[in-house]
Amino acid sequence: MHTIEVENVTKEFGSLVAVEDANFQIKDGEFVSILGPSGSGKSTILRMVAGFETPTTGSIAIEGNEVVGVPPFERNSNMVFQNLALFPHLTVAENIEYGLKQANVDKETRQKRVSEMLETVRLEGYGDRQPDELSGGEQQRVALARAIVNEPAVVLFDEPLASLDRKLRQHMQFELQRIQAETGITFLYVTHDQDIALSISDRMIVLNEGAIQQIGTVEELYNAPMSQFVADFLGDLN
Ligand code: ADP
Ligand code: MG
Repeated sequence: MHTIEVENVTKEFGSLVAVEDANFQIKDGEFVSILGPSGSGKSTILRMVAGFETPTTGSIAIEGNEVVGVPPFERNSNMVFQNLALFPHLTVAENIEYGLKQANVDKETRQKRVSEMLETVRLEGYGDRQPDELSGGEQQRVALARAIVNEPAVVLFDEPLASLDRKLRQHMQFELQRIQAETGITFLYVTHDQDIALSISDRMIVLNEGAIQQIGTVEELYNAPMSQFVADFLGDLN
C-alpha cells in the first residue's frame, strides 16, 4: 500500500484547468517534492491531498483512505505554510500542543509529546516564549513541530522556506531532512525552486501548466529528462 495515491485527478476552476489528470503514488517515508513554475498547479495538488480542495474528478487516498469528505482532524496529514500561521497569542508549547488538545489527548501525554517535539526541532527551553520572540527559523521549527506532534502519515509543505534568507534556508533544508529521517513521516514538499527540490527530495514530480511532466529520482530527471521543458527547467540553475 502506498501512503499517498493520486488517481486521475483533475481540478477545474470555472473554465480554467488547474490540474489535469494527475497520477502518482508516494511510498511510506519518502521525501517527494512537487516542482514547477508559478501557476503550474502545485498548491492546488497539495491542497487537494490535504483535503482543503475537492478534485473535480479522480480520487486521492492517504494510507488507503479517501481524503474527500473526511473531517480535518481525521485526515492523517498536516500542512506547513509559507506564512506559518502560528497562533500569536499562544506560547510555543501551546502552539505545538494545540492539535493534541483538539483531539482530546490527555494532559500528561500532551506535555510529554510537546517536550519530545521541542527536542526534535532543537528548541528545548523555548516552550514558554511567544512566537514573536522567536527568529524566522525558530518559528519555522515551531510550525514543523506542530505539524508532526500527532504523528500524521503525511506532512505537506507549501513553499515553507521561501521567505527565509539563503543561509537560513539551507540550514532549514538540513533540518527538514534530519527530522524526516528521524520520524519516518512521508513529506510532500511544494517548491518552484529547482535547487531546493534537487537537494532535499528522494523523488520529484515536475509540473507544468497543470500537467505532470515527469516523476523520478533527482538522478533520473537530471540524466534522462523526458521533455524539453524538464531539461530546461532543471537546467535553469543559478
Ligand atoms: P502554483 O502553486 O503552482 O503557483 P496554483 O495551484 O496556486 O499554482 O494555481 C494553479 C492555477 O489555478 C493558477 O492559474 C491559479 O490562478 C488557479 N487557481 C488556484 N486556486 C484558485 C481558486 N481558488 N480559484 C480560481 N483559480 C484558482
Ligand atoms: Mg503555490
